[in-house]
Amino acid sequence: MTLKNYDNVAERETPNTHYSIGNYPNDSIDWLTRLIAFDTVSRHSNLALIDDVKAYCEQLGLTVDLTFNDTKNKANLFVTVPAGKDADEVNHGLVLSGHTDVVPVDGQDWTSEPFTATIRGDKIFGRGACDMKGFIACALTLLPQAVKLSNAGQLRRPLHLALSFDEEVGCLGAPLLLADLKARGITPDYCIVGEPTNMTMVVAHKGIAVYRCRVHGKSAHSSLTAQGVNAISYASRLIGYVDELAQEISHRSDNDALFDVPYSTLSVGTIQGGTATNIVPNLCEFTFDYRNLPHMTQDDILVPIAAKVAELSAQMQARAADTGIELLQEESVPAMTDSDSAELQALIIALTGDDTRHKVAYATEGGQFTNSGIPTIICGPGSIEQAHKADEYVALSEMARCDEFLQKLLNSCAIN
Ligand SMILES: [Zn+2]
Repeated sequence: MTLKNYDNVAERETPNTHYSIGNYPNDSIDWLTRLIAFDTVSRHSNLALIDDVKAYCEQLGLTVDLTFNDTKNKANLFVTVPAGKDADEVNHGLVLSGHTDVVPVDGQDWTSEPFTATIRGDKIFGRGACDMKGFIACALTLLPQAVKLSNAGQLRRPLHLALSFDEEVGCLGAPLLLADLKARGITPDYCIVGEPTNMTMVVAHKGIAVYRCRVHGKSAHSSLTAQGVNAISYASRLIGYVDELAQEISHRSDNDALFDVPYSTLSVGTIQGGTATNIVPNLCEFTFDYRNLPHMTQDDILVPIAAKVAELSAQMQARAADTGIELLQEESVPAMTDSDSAELQALIIALTGDDTRHKVAYATEGGQFTNSGIPTIICGPGSIEQAHKADEYVALSEMARCDEFLQKLLNSCAIN
């Protein structure tokens, strides 16, 4: 057996089937190279990438739907390869989903330019290589073949591609796309989100909710404590309670051992308060996040925390009016459950021969798809270990595995 040398792009093994569409790439590595070159850091517009993919889809004869953010500088893209002989069946089917935005590179020490895909050894480096332009590249590479099957009346179920914006800043784009699908009466059967899982099947993930607590006290000279209400002291009592609650939920009997951390977590992340040691502080703010197991809801912690907030606020107000505690939710991404995806899981197992089911602590858009009635699993090339870091990469072998996986998936949608 000869080992391939991947140092030179030209020596790369290419897929068996090529369909050239205009000037567009016809393999996943070239597509990934093209996608990495778009600087789609979440704070920027993603429209250049979306327009490029839209033009590609239109050259394939597909109709593209875009949903925009309020300022119209970002868009989700949804496109369907229809099934059925009349090529008008766009309902049901399978969604391949990915986010187009990437995390910033600020302050990171990169060996090569982050927005220029670079192949070194058996890896392709660039921002978004694994998270998650690699999967999108494989999906785009597959599209012409799906269209060919569709045109020949050989596609049994539609294949959809969903590309979102602002996933990395709280999964803000996907809900607009899902609302649009609902409004148009499109109810896909399943979804695969191609976040990096080393091509293993992730069937559930935790949810995330981020809260900010603003404790309003009353200032006084630190020699006259009785005249003030110390915001830091009350904040610390509430933080103590959050930590107690974190301990309590970590010992519940219904925890899930398939998660690496088998319980829901609560963690205080930032705190600011006070101006000088000799002043009783009138303000203290802290943030905490809650990562819930799929069967737990935000209310499981919010109800007791809100009760504690009310108790402490009452104590503060007994000492001075206009004091008290505000609890604000800053971000919320739902957990992804595995309760409805048994059929999809069975399909993936049949295709890959691997029946391992993973559950992970990081959140994706999968929970939003599941909540919209579209059972979802996560499966994509590369490792989450490389995501968000300097020298982010995806192994070329992972891209090949994803190509193969999607090919099998498409074959399963085809009429023999
Ligand atoms: Zn991601």
